[in-house]
Amino acid sequence: MLWIDTKYAGLISPKLDKWKVKQTNPFVANFRCPICGDSASNPNKARGYLLQHKNSMMLKCHNCGISMGLDKLIEKLDSSLYQQYKLEKFEKNLRKNLSILNLNLKQKVSKTFQILSKISQI
Ligand SMILES: [Zn+2]
Repeated sequence: MLWIDTKYAGLISPKLDKWKVKQTNPFVANFRCPICGDSASNPNKARGYLLQHKNSMMLKCHNCGISMGLDKLIEKLDSSLYQQYKLEKFEKNLRKNLSILNLNLKQKVSKTFQILSKISQI
């Protein structure tokens, strides 16, 4: 579900100073770390990174050394956006599980018809 994380990285980016997308595949963005505030003496230092990690994204800071998931970063910066993010992830999981159930059901119905057709030939 990388596209959801990519979408929410974009939505949270106005809250991150010096935000700059360095590359898109795999995704890397650089900004001032909102956890430690980055350098107090140099306002241009930006040592926070949002990095693609498998199918999600992680914050890593080369100043304070923190490492956390995008969900925790969103939760810290914008609680209403965090609620939207959780809901969208939940919906996406639900749709995926429903399509698996639907597929299993179709396979069972198909198998039942095959058995019925064999019985009718007796
Ligand atoms: Zn930091």
